[in-house]
Amino acid sequence: MYNLARPGTIEVIAGVMFSGKSEELLRRVRRALIARRRVQVFKSHLDERYGGIYRVSSHSGIEFEALPVDSAAEIMRQTRSDTELVAIDEAQFLNSEIVEVVGALAGRGIRVIVAGTDTDFRGEPFGYMGTLMAIAEQVDKLSAICVVCGDLACRNQRLVDGKPARYDSPTIQVGGSEAYEARCRRCHRVPRADEDQTALL
Ligand code: ADP
Ligand code: ZN
Repeated sequence: MYNLARPGTIEVIAGVMFSGKSEELLRRVRRALIARRRVQVFKSHLDERYGGIYRVSSHSGIEFEALPVDSAAEIMRQTRSDTELVAIDEAQFLNSEIVEVVGALAGRGIRVIVAGTDTDFRGEPFGYMGTLMAIAEQVDKLSAICVVCGDLACRNQRLVDGKPARYDSPTIQVGGSEAYEARCRRCHRVPRADEDQTALL
């Protein structure tokens, strides 16, 4: 049954990699479990960085697994009718339907928490995170620490074979090693084709 008495809400936790989005998401989930809310956690499984599924465990020993999903429609299909909180991690990888799905879930009275990286390695908007931030009741934008200078980091630095990735480098890297760092605006490097790549490696 949909609970029409209770208004749903959308909360977005945005920011760069390493800014603590997953930690904050899990903190909110843990507190909801303490409040005995019925919770479901989803995670885009296009994110393979940490080897897939994570678990959320409650103090009472109940373990929560994040359900891996590859589309927003799957979140809609898998959300049970009695669920009170839906948490979605790595939402930047989900297709445009995520906007509609999140709105529909909140419309049913569900508290929806969406976490994701809101800018890509170029510093440009990532997926539908910006739209989700616009339709949310609450937005928290977290920062990491720049690994070069120690200031607050608001950018994802992509490195391919230890060098800053070019603006037009393919999103999926074939061969070569790829890594990401948190950096501030000043230390962030995205060379264009004709630029020197040696500075701030
Ligand atoms: P996100 O989900 O935003 O990628 P996580 O919640 O997975 O972030 O991880 C946040 C944790 O990462 C921090 O609490 C800290 O321990 C660690 N960390 C590693 N590198 C950095 C960095 N450059 N800046 C801030 N935290 C970092
Ligand atoms: Zn810096």
